[in-house]
Amino acid sequence: MAWDFETDQEYQKKLDWANEFVREEVEPLDRLFPHQQFVPMDDTKRKIIDPLKEEVRRQELWATHLGPDLGGQGFGQLKLALLNEILGRSPWASTVFGTQAPDTGNAEIIAHYGTPEQKERYLRPLLEGELFSCYSMTEPQGGADPTQFKTRAVKDGDEWVINGWKYFSSNAKTASFLIVMAVTNPDVSPYKGMSMFLVPADTPGVNIVRNVGLYGERLNDGSHALIHYEDVHVPEAALLGGEGQAFVIAQTRLGGGRIHHAMRTIGLSQKALDMMCERALSRQTAGSLLADKQFVQGYIADSYAQLMQFRLFVLYTAWEIDKYNDYKRVRKDISAVKVVMPTVLHDIAWRAMQVHGALGTTNEMPFFGMIHAAGVMGLADGPTEVHKATVARQLLRDYKPSDGMWPSEWIPDKLDAAKARFAHLLDLEVGNL
Ligand SMILES: Cc1cc2nc3c(=O)[nH]c(=O)nc-3n(C[C@H](O)[C@H](O)[C@H](O)COP(=O)(O)OP(=O)(O)OC[C@H]3O[C@@H](n4cnc5c(N)ncnc54)[C@H](O)[C@@H]3O)c2cc1C
Repeated sequence: MAWDFETDQEYQKKLDWANEFVREEVEPLDRLFPHQQFVPMDDTKRKIIDPLKEEVRRQELWATHLGPDLGGQGFGQLKLALLNEILGRSPWASTVFGTQAPDTGNAEIIAHYGTPEQKERYLRPLLEGELFSCYSMTEPQGGADPTQFKTRAVKDGDEWVINGWKYFSSNAKTASFLIVMAVTNPDVSPYKGMSMFLVPADTPGVNIVRNVGLYGERLNDGSHALIHYEDVHVPEAALLGGEGQAFVIAQTRLGGGRIHHAMRTIGLSQKALDMMCERALSRQTAGSLLADKQFVQGYIADSYAQLMQFRLFVLYTAWEIDKYNDYKRVRKDISAVKVVMPTVLHDIAWRAMQVHGALGTTNEMPFFGMIHAAGVMGLADGPTEVHKATVARQLLRDYKPSDGMWPSEWIPDKLDAAKARFAHLLDLEVGNL
């Protein structure tokens, strides 16, 4: 019997350690340095954060998603999921554990498709946590549909020259290099005519026009860049994977990124549920605790059930990825997880906010941040609607139309078939049914 919902004891000990470490040592960073996990280290931050990273390495929990040859632990996605749901409590935690987006996804594709030179130049320092990276795919005229992309890379001698616009390139302003998706052959299908390039951020022509901020951030002081690539020259060696392989690489990149977000979302949703329960047990009104009110009990029970369903689905999908080592094969479940993720976080955070009354809506509590994060999750790495379509398409592949006029489960036909099947055993009376 292979199904097993237990974590092996050795790893559980590591998770217990991580849980305490994140709560005690890492979560305070979120208050000290909010929204700064992608800002290059200065001496003050180094003094605090370097020892924390060292401790994580000593515990052998650094970059658990990558193999030992790449500086990670090679634990795979299931163990990463169990760790990430702890890290999801804190924006800084992924950085301290070497598993922060978008770098994990970027590291994965360089690990999969990079040449030894590319790995040495980009992957090693990325894994050391010394530099940041950016994934530059979405364009202003179309994000959800890559067939709309216009950014071009044209061969010029032994160089490629990139021209075009990219939008919402997260962390471009602090990244040391960008992974840019560009059309290299407009005469074939976009699925075969685009390629990926590793572009150092200081290459002439990489012009950040605006750093778009999310809601609540200062105008033009956000982390999501509008970039104009203007005659950006890169050598042939900047091509990641083969020419025309961008779409396949993107699926690997996004498959990993999506499931990692989902893992962390479990942790964030659990945090909201924890706060909801604490408040319900702490606040007295109309003669009893909030915990005694049936509406509030309903919030708690619904949240728990929603979170458990989501958690099991994420863990199952992570297990599938480890088993098949092929994101494409697990695409349906990754998309389905991506579809439910924003709703789970939104619903639980919303209920937790409601249970906190007016306090819940203030900037002294984190709920609006969580609800906003849920909105972002419905778009980043592809809109919910597109993922729903993927799930449906993939599911429908396993079905075929019914023969004839009636559905295959049409009861009159079924009854006739059942009678025929057992005719030799049925007496006359039953046969007249
Ligand atoms: C916080 C954040 C970070 C991001 N980081 C990055 C990054 O690092 N790199 C990067 O390249 N991109 C990044 N993105 C961009 C993201 O991938 C795109 O926003 C996403 O692909 C949607 O593209 P769009 O915004 O152009 O929306 P559109 O493509 O304009 O879609 C808008 C809406 O139209 C509907 N829609 C679109 N297509 C369909 C369809 N086929 N069927 C039904 N309805 C549809 C949906 O409701 C969708 O929400 C980020 C986005 C966010 C919010």
